[in-house]
Amino acid sequence: MSPKKVFPNARRLGIEVHKFGGASLADAAAFRRVVEIVKTRTQPRIVVVSAPAGVTDVLLGLATRAAAGDGESGAKEVADLRARYLEILRGAAPRHTKEAAGEIARSMDELGRLLSSLAVLKELTARTRDFIVSRGERLSARLLAAALSAGGLRARYVEATEVIFTDGPFGGASPNLMLTDMAARKLLRPLCADGIIPVVPGFIGAAPDESGELATDRVDGARPGVPAQVRLRGMDLRRAQSVLGGHGDPSRVAERAVATLGRGGTDLTATLLGRALSAREISLWKDVPGLLTADPRVVPDARVIPQLHVREAAELAYYGAKVLHPRALIPVAGRAIPVFVRPFADATAAGTEISARRTLDRYPVKALSAVGGQALLTVAGNGMLGVPGIAGRTFEALHREGISISLISQSSSEQSICFSIPEGAARRARARLSEEFREQIARGEIDGIEAQSGLATVAVVGIGMAGHLGIAARVFAALAEASINIVAIAQGSSELNISFVVAAKDVAAAQRAVHAAFQLSKIGGGAATRAAHTDAVLLGFGLIGRALAKIMAQGQGKTKGNGTASANGANGASKLRLVGAIDRRGYVFDPNGLSPRTIAALSVAKQDGKSLAEAPGGRSSAPADALAALAEHALSDPILVDVTADESTPLIRQALGAGMDVVLANKRPLSGPRSDSEALAALAANAGRRLLTEATVGAGLPIFDTHRKLVESGDRVLKIEGCLSGTLGFVLTEVERGRSFSAALRRAMELGYTEPDPRDDLSGADVGRKALILGRLLAFAGEPQDVAVESLVPAAMRALPRDAFLAHLDDVDPDWSRRAAAAKAKGATLRYVATVTKERISVGLKVVGRASPFFGLKGTDNQVAFTTTRYRKNPLVITGPGAGPAVTAAGVLNDMLRVRG
Ligand code: ADP
Ligand code: ASP
Ligand code: MG
Repeated sequence: MSPKKVFPNARRLGIEVHKFGGASLADAAAFRRVVEIVKTRTQPRIVVVSAPAGVTDVLLGLATRAAAGDGESGAKEVADLRARYLEILRGAAPRHTKEAAGEIARSMDELGRLLSSLAVLKELTARTRDFIVSRGERLSARLLAAALSAGGLRARYVEATEVIFTDGPFGGASPNLMLTDMAARKLLRPLCADGIIPVVPGFIGAAPDESGELATDRVDGARPGVPAQVRLRGMDLRRAQSVLGGHGDPSRVAERAVATLGRGGTDLTATLLGRALSAREISLWKDVPGLLTADPRVVPDARVIPQLHVREAAELAYYGAKVLHPRALIPVAGRAIPVFVRPFADATAAGTEISARRTLDRYPVKALSAVGGQALLTVAGNGMLGVPGIAGRTFEALHREGISISLISQSSSEQSICFSIPEGAARRARARLSEEFREQIARGEIDGIEAQSGLATVAVVGIGMAGHLGIAARVFAALAEASINIVAIAQGSSELNISFVVAAKDVAAAQRAVHAAFQLSKIGGGAATRAAHTDAVLLGFGLIGRALAKIMAQGQGKTKGNGTASANGANGASKLRLVGAIDRRGYVFDPNGLSPRTIAALSVAKQDGKSLAEAPGGRSSAPADALAALAEHALSDPILVDVTADESTPLIRQALGAGMDVVLANKRPLSGPRSDSEALAALAANAGRRLLTEATVGAGLPIFDTHRKLVESGDRVLKIEGCLSGTLGFVLTEVERGRSFSAALRRAMELGYTEPDPRDDLSGADVGRKALILGRLLAFAGEPQDVAVESLVPAAMRALPRDAFLAHLDDVDPDWSRRAAAAKAKGATLRYVATVTKERISVGLKVVGRASPFFGLKGTDNQVAFTTTRYRKNPLVITGPGAGPAVTAAGVLNDMLRVRG
């Protein structure tokens, strides 16, 4: 019997469920857009909402820190949250603010009190955590109900605990389908029939009663058509009566504890309500144009899949596709309720239809998804052959430990069974199995239990693969081609899924390779829009790194997320978010962005001479491993920013290979052997990544930018000359003013302008590197040793220890005074100048007259002069501060914004 006949009333109403995700509720403008979208629909509607983007993370962070005893520091974040909700309310529901403003105040006051008591108790139960985070969605729904009313619609806030019922546990509750069906129908159907739009907070539902005795008589297997009441037994019946009797009774509702459905659970709320009301369709409005062939942050040419079978979508969700809650599609399985993933940015676009239809037969594989943080356990041994029940006992033991297995593969010879589980459970699983098989291990039938961590599972999904030969072969050929080692393979139980395990560092490349092998970029739907922000990772946390982190932290006040700097562009759309920093010994990382407070704490730690490994939240690791760990996460449009002065080329290659764009302030990767810098540029080009270098020469001065614009406009650059060292510029202008060379240099050291050993500046090596980088812009074909560099350190003093050198510094003064006086007599002055052409690069001391642009240069300023076909007589000159952490950081930031586009 079809659902249509069972619930004729609901079905006839033709209800639509519209769920809006966090990105679609980020600020007042987004709320107004939601109102517009809801207005364009004419059918009876139910609206389900997430918390505004980032709010759940903030609430979780606050709860965790409070329970760690930090009761103070949350006050600012609570105040920010309150301000953010109020701003949304004022912007989206002017004149309807009173009641909702009261709710905001109540909820935030309560939050403050909860955090204070957590700080005293130092204990955070899952129940309290759920209660704390539930306010994200609850306030969001209150505000949207107000905004819809302000927009002239009849809307009503509905408490989630009145319509969504769960069987627990807190933190990741399973819905009780039967109770939810009954309660939601009873409460929402009359509202919809009356033309009122219920607005329901997603992600949460009623927890089972304290008694914990509630039966979990799920209706999954129940026959449709049998009236719900008939299926009720014992506790469930009593609970149902209490639920249904309690509707609208505020004290009963307030009593009910709230449980969350797991991260991303708002999707599930939507499908639960869609099921209960036999909705005509369910729309999930998100920040992507639809369900894509792969995570667009990992596979840039991922495409929208126009239509997908519900089993395929469920498989993808279950195997990690972050676009849907893993269990979101279970409530609608087997029902004729299509689910649409729709782009919030373009309400008229088709998005993705998830339904029981089968289309796109040409694509046996339709999409990929991946889960990181996996470990592979292997139970192996010669004696396993023929011993019955090893597999059964293995899985039973893990089941009893509550460890879920995502992939199993058993070799045909039965010599080993291996399976993947979450990394965090690996130790426990291994101990449990060693115990289980103690005898077999003692007898040598089983060699032992091995665990391998640092892995990821990739699922390749398509309903059409059942009827196609050679799909697995194509997957593995693609991986082999990309030189990716496969750790384990399993043909999923469901024959619409082939899964494989690879090292976490390979997971991005593996997905790109398989995506390309099945030509998924041609599937027909549109491309992905850009993510709302760009995630940045700093390589190096020295003076420049810290200056940059500080600028990014300051930008946060204007936006929502953590550590997010808003480019002050016309629409403020460009957003950069600092998610990690790596130094030589360790790293810090937070996929949601490092908060300004964390950034400040890190800076303090670094100033105190600590490594990031020892800083708060730091982990110790070699840079390459740190980068690999970060690259495992699905960062959005990630950029690696190299602000070291190290030989970082291998790391940069690694970053480009992992799909990151790269911004360099570090000169070394571009000023080594020519083949190295060319290879880097080629690698970036092949990977479709940007490699931006503006801050390597002249800090924030637009030198590369100017060069590019000249070339683009058809001009030809013949020569670049420049004063490219702030330190040498300072010393020479001081000498020009009559100071002795030694005094000038000492002053420069005091002011922090020099390297620890000032000979590193005086040798000209640094300017030589910059000159070489500029030379390569002009197609200079030479190597570093071909750059003619004049050192300002007399030959006799080059090998001295630093202190001896400084002690003898006065020795050079007479010579410098003479040179300065001679120049002055000619109406000229001394400058350290780089001269760069396609054929030759030289760097050294020059006597420059009044006619030279360099004559008037002051202090640490840099200057670059372009002589071009058009600017032949009067070169094009760029002058400005060319050294120091702040201006260099600004140059880097500019490049980062350019990557962002
Ligand atoms: P919501 O706002 O509804 O909570 P989510 O943020 O949970 O939406 O899901 C959308 C995000 O999922 C996108 O920003 C995208 O980066 C990520 N994503 C991962 N895999 C896919 C995929 N296959 N298709 C679309 N989006 C994906
Ligand atoms: N706000 C919750 C989360 O961030 C639920 C959701 O958005 O679906 O996970
Ligand atoms: Mg989500």
